[in-house]
Amino acid sequence: MPQDHATPSQRPKLRLVATTTVPTRWGRFTCHAFEACEPNKAPQEHIALSVGEVVGTDEVLVRVHSECLTGDVFGSWRCDCGAQLHSAMDAIASMGTGVLVYLLGHEGRGIGIGHKMRAYALQDQGRDTVEANLELGLPVDARSYAIGAAILAELGVERVALMTNNPAKQNELAACGLHIVRRVPLETTPRAENLAYLRTKQQRLGHQMDQLEHQTDQPEQSDAQVGGGPLLGVVSDEQNSRSSNGLANP
Ligand SMILES: [Zn+2]
Repeated sequence: MPQDHATPSQRPKLRLVATTTVPTRWGRFTCHAFEACEPNKAPQEHIALSVGEVVGTDEVLVRVHSECLTGDVFGSWRCDCGAQLHSAMDAIASMGTGVLVYLLGHEGRGIGIGHKMRAYALQDQGRDTVEANLELGLPVDARSYAIGAAILAELGVERVALMTNNPAKQNELAACGLHIVRRVPLETTPRAENLAYLRTKQQRLGHQMDQLEHQTDQPEQSDAQVGGGPLLGVVSDEQNSRSSNGLANP
């Protein structure tokens, strides 16, 4: 079982601010607001949406989602965040048990919305998402998932089926003590607007996206692709053990 290697002083301190219910198009979620304090950082609020009884449940379907204003709220097709968020909420509601942890402060892989727009402007000139951050003197990925693991522990979640394509996220959550029973791929249908971005995430950041292997360079654009149908499935431990190229952990 994974061990939490953080010392007590390194672990984020959490305070439950409030719990209420939020009805959504996918179903009714219990909504928990947390305030997290990490060493040398300003306090940051986060949200966890849960469905059903997760305490003591053998395998809780979980998504730890990084805030993306453009994708999640505005429906931007430059990335796959919005489609992943909605697919995860749909899957959790359909399962009847699960948790979505929404981590604020993760905008643009942790660089913030303004810097993300600067990086987008460079990508408009031909850089990829990794090159753009580096050219701006910014980290390729500044996110930490320790708070996500702490929130799940606070909610009593012990063993999870983790919806992610990102091995770095999976590895860090496991290092924080979260028992990940299996990974559940969360692939979305590629679009012309995000195909290059997805390929960069696959090739330079180690994301596992099998669907891209069969994708031509010019995916068909049609309204039917709006929301990009989820491809939820089961991945074996053997497949999980494939290593990434490590760039996602600068
Ligand atoms: Zn995004």
